[in-house]
Amino acid sequence: MILPIYTYGQPVLRQEAEEIGEDYPDLAGLIQNMYDTLERSEGIGLAAPQVGLPIRLVVINLDVLGEDMPQYKGYIRTFINPYIEEYDESQTEVMEEGCLSLPGIHESVRRPTRIRVSYQDEQFQLHDEWVDGYLARVMQHEFDHLDGTVFTDHIKGLRRQLTQAKLKNIVKGNFSCNYKVKPKR
Ligand SMILES: [Zn+2]
Repeated sequence: MILPIYTYGQPVLRQEAEEIGEDYPDLAGLIQNMYDTLERSEGIGLAAPQVGLPIRLVVINLDVLGEDMPQYKGYIRTFINPYIEEYDESQTEVMEEGCLSLPGIHESVRRPTRIRVSYQDEQFQLHDEWVDGYLARVMQHEFDHLDGTVFTDHIKGLRRQLTQAKLKNIVKGNFSCNYKVKPKR
């Protein structure tokens, strides 16, 4: 089932998300819906707050980038209760990002290229590992959503002011996109 994407201005995107346990109602169904929604909106990552749920759950599909990045072929993963444990600040990189909750905004963001993450998989097995490259970028973007942070929060200076104007338009509902959304009303 395809879920509507909550867009900027929806309070859930600014909330601190809560951890979930194995007893979360129909977790498998929710995860499937999140993958369906991600596919329909042609995204590569989706955090539960983006579908209106303030819980620590993220799905990432990098398989769709497999043509350009063969190392990610088949990479479709669910992250339950994820946290960024450590940032390796020794190397950072600037890359353009976008977000399904911020339609029409694409801006460059500087982030560390290597992070240590902890999370549980769909079997609730705990993982603690270092990741780098594009995956580390996507994880930082998605896991930020669980702490009420959106990627434009990382933009500084004059570009930040320009971005704020675009964000205001999203709050007012002045945007268009080709997937189902639930804007602030
Ligand atoms: Zn996002």
